[in-house]
This record gives sequence, structure tokens and C-alpha cells, in this order.
Amino acid sequence: MGPFFKIIKRSQKSNARVGKIYTEHGTVDTPVFMPVATQGTVKTQFVRDLYENDVQMLCLNAYHLYLRPGMDIIGKAGGIHKFMNFDKPILSDSGGFQVFSLADLREISRDGVTFRSHIDGSSHEFTPEKVMDIEKGLGVDIKTCFDECISWPAPYNTAKVSVERTTEWAKRCKNTVNSQQLTVNSNQPLFGIVQGSTYLDLRKQSAEQLIDIEFDGYAIGGICCGEPKELSLEVVSNLCSILPDDKPRYLMGVGLPEDLLEYTKLGIDMFDCVTPTRDGRTGTLFTEKGKFAIKNSIYKDDFRPIDNSCSCYACKNYSRAYIRHLFNAGEMLGPALGTLHNIHFFIKKMQEIRKGIIENLI
Ligand SMILES: [Zn+2]
Repeated sequence: MGPFFKIIKRSQKSNARVGKIYTEHGTVDTPVFMPVATQGTVKTQFVRDLYENDVQMLCLNAYHLYLRPGMDIIGKAGGIHKFMNFDKPILSDSGGFQVFSLADLREISRDGVTFRSHIDGSSHEFTPEKVMDIEKGLGVDIKTCFDECISWPAPYNTAKVSVERTTEWAKRCKNTVNSQQLTVNSNQPLFGIVQGSTYLDLRKQSAEQLIDIEFDGYAIGGICCGEPKELSLEVVSNLCSILPDDKPRYLMGVGLPEDLLEYTKLGIDMFDCVTPTRDGRTGTLFTEKGKFAIKNSIYKDDFRPIDNSCSCYACKNYSRAYIRHLFNAGEMLGPALGTLHNIHFFIKKMQEIRKGIIENLI
């Protein structure tokens, strides 16, 4: 087996790097933006649209897919790639964030978390071992550890306890993966997730403990949870100087178009965020000149495309006036075109960033 990650160009102006992640479903150029496919679908998009938009990799959620449709069905389908008809790399988020968001419906112990399903109230338990089994069952190309994600702001001691628990669970995740019998089709790199809120010493502790366990890549969780931007930048910048240089760094749940450039410059290689899809289907569209709300009446007879400089299917074929009409009439094509355009915009941003690093502009 060859390397999992290779850096092919380092910026001379910042800590940005261009690299490649090698998976069984293809090679991914980094830095990469992953649209989210929480339920095994990028809402409103055909897989054909994703391929046409040069989407390289998707991020989905083990918690949601475990609850519905359930692992037996995904297993019978032959894994998540076949089930959703997506033949490129997929990363799964363990679902820690979702489980811990169920404030009144869960109970945490040393062993794991017991929670009630948000769908039907049934009771379930997630332990690190169980989450590793779920992610293995999905057949994803990159797995993430089961971690404890706390909200912001959090008292120091709460953050400290969550770091200790996250490290303990990360060890158990790694042990489980080591003992799962490896077959040709189950080569699934595992990422540890750094926690520690906005406390730099706890972030350092979390990163160092995970590095000791040794993962294939490192994710940074709990960023963009409402903390001021300067603080997020400081935490990430610090972590990029601690995390191994030769492993991919994944900033979870970030970001906006401007975030992609800023965090890439600090040394981040992977991003996922709901922004392009959630905004796209609710009518907030991104352009080179900023974002705008397509439902606004000033667009009622604006027959220009969403963005003159965009070459996506929506911009090549439809006007702002028509897309606004679709949104206002509650037609499904509106959210589909909005999402398609926004994904194109984010993917193009990332392509430009990679080009900028290669040309020593970033
Ligand atoms: Zn477009």
C-alpha cells in the first residue's frame, strides 16, 4: 500500500500546502472542500451534478445513517457508496456532535453515551467500539473517532473533562480499528479529533495525546461554535504548529468562502460545511461580489445569471428572475439550482486556492 497523504507543494508565503489524499475511491487534491451529505445525499442534488461540479469528496454522518435507514440496510446494499450511487471518496463524521446536541435526551458515562433517537424516541448507546463498527459498516474512505463535542462557551473544567474523555475514547477507537479484521475492502484511515474549546493549553494537551496514539490524520472539532473569529484563528494556528506536518489536518464544520483561504494559510487541508447547501436551498447565493438573497423583489425582472463569471449549469441556463420565481412559487427546482450554484462556487474557490499555492500567490 502506498502513502495515504502526500504534500506536493508548500507555499513560500504562508503555511498553506497542496497535497493528495489517496483512497480506494480515488485521489483527492487538497486543500479540499467537502459538501455535506448528512443523510447519504447532498440535499436536492443528483450525483451527476456533484460530478459535473468537480466535487471530490463528501462528508456524511454516522449517527443519522445508523438511526435511519440503519446499518442492516446499508450492509445489504453493499455499503454507503453503492447505496447512494456515489463512487468517489467519502468521510464519515462519527456523530459525536449530533449525539451531544441532544441535550435533554442523552446521558454520558465513561463508557459512552446513551441517547434517545430524535426520530422515534428509541433508546441507543454509542460507545467508541460501536461507532467504529458503524463507520466500518458504512464502508467510508475516512473514519473519525467518537469524541465529546461541547458547546461554547464552556467552563475550563468542563473542557478539561471532555478532552480527557475524548482521548480515552480515541484510544478505544484506535484499538477497535486495530482489532477489526482488515480485508482488502476495509482499509479505512482513522482521524483523531482535537477538542479543548478555546483553551490553548487544553487544545495542546488534546493534540499531543492524540499524536501519541497515532492517527492517519487529525481533525479539529469544536471550532465555529459561536466563539469570536480571532479566537478560532488563534486556536487553529496553534494546533497547526503542533499537529504532524505529514498528516492531513481537517477543520470540521468550517466555513464561509473567506474562511477557506484564511485557514488554508494556517495549514488546514480539509473542510466541510453546510453553508453552500443550506444557504443554496434557502435562497442565499454566493457570487464573487458577495452573497445575496434571490427572493428579494429587486430580482423580479433581473434576467442576468446569478453570477456573470460563473459557468455552472444554473448560471449558464437560468436567470435570477426565473430562479426567484421558483423560490417564491415553492418549486423544488429553485433550491436545486441555488444549491448547485453554491457548491460550484465553493469548489471553484478551493481550486483557485490550490492554484494560488502552486503559483506562490497565497
Ligand atoms: Zn453559477
